[in-house]
Amino acid sequence: MDRIRRLGVKGDEALLVTSALVFHGSLLAVLHRLTTSPGDTGIFPGSPHYTEPVSTYAIRIFGDPVLRQRAAEIENVDGRLAHLVQDMIETMYEAPGVGLAAPQIGVERRLFVYDVGDDEGPKAIVNPVISESRGEWEFEEGCLSVPGLHWTIVRPKEVHLTGFDIDGNEISIEADEYLARVFQHELDHLDGVLLLDRLDKDTRKEAMRTLRGRVFSGAEVRGGAQPGALERDTPAL
Ligand SMILES: [Zn+2]
Repeated sequence: MDRIRRLGVKGDEALLVTSALVFHGSLLAVLHRLTTSPGDTGIFPGSPHYTEPVSTYAIRIFGDPVLRQRAAEIENVDGRLAHLVQDMIETMYEAPGVGLAAPQIGVERRLFVYDVGDDEGPKAIVNPVISESRGEWEFEEGCLSVPGLHWTIVRPKEVHLTGFDIDGNEISIEADEYLARVFQHELDHLDGVLLLDRLDKDTRKEAMRTLRGRVFSGAEVRGGAQPGALERDTPAL
């Protein structure tokens, strides 16, 4: 099954490349690699423990039970976590996507990474909590774990997110619109919630039919998306 998923990820790579935002993300990744050296990776400035080679993970796809579990809090922030975060960032860039939660690579821990293409580069949040949310904002969302499909979803426009960075420092961020959307999507992954659960009843039924059709036709094995299914610019998270 893992081998199948690995093959699947390769397929996604080709099919998800259409998003301008996502493209921007992967361009950043290339620039990032060209302009940083080990020990100065942006997310771990001057970090001495980032010397091991970075590897990428297979992204778990809809139907995998790991995507439906509530992930556990992280108790110890140590070097191992730093390495996992670096691998998650690499996996996110390779997909390409703008956010990735640990359960999406089969790790049931409350951690996600993101890069929304601003000057700040990739970031990781450990044990995130949304303490406040305000307003409504409509946005078209895609998910790396439900490749090739996207829906317009209304969620709160602003959120207040707290958590920790990988050095264990407290983080408090007021996020609006796009960044707020990324946080909400990744938080959902940590609670075992997928985009599909945010759809109205009829849209969800239709989505389930599409996804079941894929499983029967074997399309999932080739990466999930039907040819031409992702024709618009939608960031995958
Ligand atoms: Zn997602």
